Amino acid sequence: MASLGKPTIVWLRDDLRLADNPALTAGARIGAPLVVVYVLDEMSEGIRRLGGASKWWLHGSLDASGKALAKHGQRLVLRHGPAQDVLLKLADELGAGHVFWNRRYGGGERAVDAAIKAGLKDRGIAVESFQANLLCEPWTIRTKADQPFRVFTPFWNACRTQMPPREPLPAPDELPSPVDGVGSDSLADWKLLPTRPDWAGGLRDSWTPGEDGAQARFQAFRAEKLKDYAAHRDEPAADVSSRLSPHLRFGEISPFQLWHGVSPEGLGDGTKISQANVDKFLSEIGWREFSWHLLFHQPDLAMRNFQPRFDAFPWPAVNEAALVAWRKGRTGIPIVDAGMRELWKTGFMHNRVRMIVASFLIKNLMVDWRIGEAWFWDTLVDADAANNPASWQWVAGSGADAAPYFRVFNPVLQGEKFDAAGDYVRRFVPELADVPAKQIHAAWKAGGVPGYPGPIVDLGATRERALRAFQQMREDD
Ligand code: FAD
Repeated sequence: MASLGKPTIVWLRDDLRLADNPALTAGARIGAPLVVVYVLDEMSEGIRRLGGASKWWLHGSLDASGKALAKHGQRLVLRHGPAQDVLLKLADELGAGHVFWNRRYGGGERAVDAAIKAGLKDRGIAVESFQANLLCEPWTIRTKADQPFRVFTPFWNACRTQMPPREPLPAPDELPSPVDGVGSDSLADWKLLPTRPDWAGGLRDSWTPGEDGAQARFQAFRAEKLKDYAAHRDEPAADVSSRLSPHLRFGEISPFQLWHGVSPEGLGDGTKISQANVDKFLSEIGWREFSWHLLFHQPDLAMRNFQPRFDAFPWPAVNEAALVAWRKGRTGIPIVDAGMRELWKTGFMHNRVRMIVASFLIKNLMVDWRIGEAWFWDTLVDADAANNPASWQWVAGSGADAAPYFRVFNPVLQGEKFDAAGDYVRRFVPELADVPAKQIHAAWKAGGVPGYPGPIVDLGATRERALRAFQQMREDD
């Protein structure tokens, strides 16, 4: 396979996988010596710096990618700095002939990629990018009025007209040999893992970053959970969702693989899994696509209200003590505390509980959604530049196709409905282990529990306050 041609560069980004990686497949096909590089870019404008939990994940994912490439006689070259400088310097250093990557959709990322593409073309280097991480690239679908979509269902219907998507690509059988002597940072020197204190024990117990971990999760989901997905995905104790979100975030598995993996051919003969379960799962993949559609059209989605009238929302000064109680899971509202502790311990939180804790922060504590979004960004292993702000804005009521502001989740009723036996709360709030299911979601009403705080706010009064603030915003509009 070795060739005397100019070296090829494959630049890995949020696509840390060997299978269904069109850029890597293209790089392998050229047959020239190959350099596979990852750039830690903490400097380019408009690219969000990773939070702590994401850094932990990235370390594991890069480590796994390096090992997977080594099995193919290849290596992962690590460089850091502004991606534009690093990539162009590497291309010059190697006298590269081709550069390949899979496309990104954030505003800052697109600007960087466009500048690099121009720089490479100026040097006469062939450069090509591929669709790999979204089923529907944001510019390929528009409303009938030729606008970006703002409502999920028509968006997803339009996206589905492009389905089925292309078949996923197998991992290349063989990779061309690496170029000798190319310098690389050491992963340990990037200091992505926490040391003092090492808060990542719960993350290590919960996750296996990397492509093999992603595939194992997906196989287990198809075999054990998908059959119950539609009926029980809202119940945090049932644990029937896929937990693929961090693997998708880092591109260790692609939506193309998921789509085909749950098709009748992918599931295989004799499957008892109903189409309703498959459709529900695919529609959640659709929500991810929708978030990226929104982010593509509003790159500052994490900072700016999607609906401008929310700019006038009268946020009061932040009550720091209440905010700390929320972060630590000490609000005295059991389902909120269970969720926030799950997050701190494992870097993950069930979707239903994410909605509950977000609503509590924004509406009962009247804290600006951006503050909650930033905490999730730092603590979630799946912190996603599109899904996180889009979901926070959805709960706040300021987003596209959002829950209306006046829909305030009642955490007691939500707990009673979706965690009826109290098992989820007991799992993460051991102080409440002996409280019977009937009382567990409003433990304070039965006189409280030693060692567990009473509620830091009155749910009814704070709900009314939030509704008045919303009314004021509407009147000022
Ligand atoms: P499954 O139910 O198995 O769904 C499969 C995949 O579909 C997920 O892995 C995810 O990629 C996607 N998905 C599922 N639900 C949603 C949704 N509502 N919106 C967008 N995509 C979805 N998801 C993230 O990936 N990163 C985030 O940073 C993030 N922040 C959130 C913040 C808030 C306040 C809320 C309410 C939701 C957030 N979500 C986020 C969406 C959702 O909670 C997670 O994607 C989901 O809980 C991940 O679990 P799963 O992989 O088991 O999901």
